[in-house]
Amino acid sequence: MNPAAEIDFAFLEEGFSAKDVVEQKINESSMTDDRDAFYVCDLGDILKKHLRWSRALPRVAPFYAVKCNDSRSVVTTLASLGTGFDCASKTEIQLVQSLGVDPSRIIYANPCKQVSQIKYASAHGVQMMTFDSEVELMKVARYHDNAKLVLRIATDDSKAVCRLSIKFGAQLKACRGLLEKAKDLGLDVIGVSFHVGSGCTDPLTYSQAIGDARCVFDMGDELGFNMNLLDIGGGFPGSDDVDLKFEEITAVINPALDKYFPVDSKVKIIAEPGRFYVASAYTLVVNIIAKKVILDDDENASDDEDEGTTDRSIMYYVNDGVYGSFNCILYDHAHCLPSLHKKPKPDEPMYPCSIWGPTCDGLDRIVEQCFLPDMQVGDWLVFENMGAYTVAASSTFNGFQKPDIHFVISRPSWQCVQFSSADLRAPTEESFLQEMPACCGRESGVEMPTKPYQTNMV
Ligand SMILES: *Cc1c(COP(=O)(O)O)cnc(C)c1O
Repeated sequence: MNPAAEIDFAFLEEGFSAKDVVEQKINESSMTDDRDAFYVCDLGDILKKHLRWSRALPRVAPFYAVKCNDSRSVVTTLASLGTGFDCASKTEIQLVQSLGVDPSRIIYANPCKQVSQIKYASAHGVQMMTFDSEVELMKVARYHDNAKLVLRIATDDSKAVCRLSIKFGAQLKACRGLLEKAKDLGLDVIGVSFHVGSGCTDPLTYSQAIGDARCVFDMGDELGFNMNLLDIGGGFPGSDDVDLKFEEITAVINPALDKYFPVDSKVKIIAEPGRFYVASAYTLVVNIIAKKVILDDDENASDDEDEGTTDRSIMYYVNDGVYGSFNCILYDHAHCLPSLHKKPKPDEPMYPCSIWGPTCDGLDRIVEQCFLPDMQVGDWLVFENMGAYTVAASSTFNGFQKPDIHFVISRPSWQCVQFSSADLRAPTEESFLQEMPACCGRESGVEMPTKPYQTNMV
């Protein structure tokens, strides 16, 4: 089976980008009264990320963290590209396996698992799984036939946006005891994993954790385990509008890997990127459904030429909020700022504004303060980089439906994804990259399109 054939998407016509599709959808929707919020997802952006990963971390095989965005089209694209998957639950394992992904490409990377789900993994051939406690070892010994265990260690994630080591990861001083316990139970420990925290701001956290992992490898080897898997987790940024860029992190990781786990150590290195792969692929477009102008009653209020007119502020209400896509503000500590659909005129006054979601809860605020021109009900706002920890955790609270997602991909990108599918079960980054230029060459002789995308696909 070719899983890529299942993706529900439209082709981007030559010369058009996902931005043009945003524009087109806005125009179509503006002709109706509907004006529902919607997403455009460029699956080609996921391919670009994959190539960028392979270039920056040639020794590290990505196992995409499904929790970040479990859209079938996203997971299918990644399956075709030959990534592995980090699953944390039975349902995530089911999703990935339903696409024909071999169990050897899945790591069950949840250190605290429900017994019935351990049994499910066992019955479905998923062997690699993480642990960080004795009790978990006892559960796995009892309910899994053939587990390959990976010891999750804690990291110093004090500088990460979302801390994970407050919940997971064994302290270094506990590791020997855990490995001895595993030995007593007759379990197979194959390696070490960690997660530096989502939204990592200090690349030295990675090198420190890689060094710590080396210590635990040595303990494992001493106890007679065949330690051969290092899992460096996630935490990589999903867009370039961050202080610490992806390549700045990988520039620290690569030498640490070469120092502690040189190529001739034969250790397989994997990672569990989530945000990195999907954040920038998604653009969310929302519509202004209501507006309130608050006049400043302070007589002395003065106009500040740079900051804008300050005799009033404006509250905009839009049709997606923190109970929907913007749950990332609460759960993922995200700061979302809109870009304008209509370019403001150079002399157009800007006002201090707040932006609110559609539900009846006062908590449902998307932006506390930003400067925007005077817009009207029916106008659109665009939020970029909305693919990570957004759709995956949104609800329909108060009866507000989740936005439709329009998936698009260019033909050359599609061909790359298709090409990779041929190699589904035994992909190697090297073979993929070597053959890449041929399949990524742009086609010629395509008919001049009239719309940026075409809907009757595949
Ligand atoms: C959430 C999570 C990830 C993905 O983290 P990102 O910061 O999105 O890369 C990877 N591994 C584990 C165990 C996680 O819990």
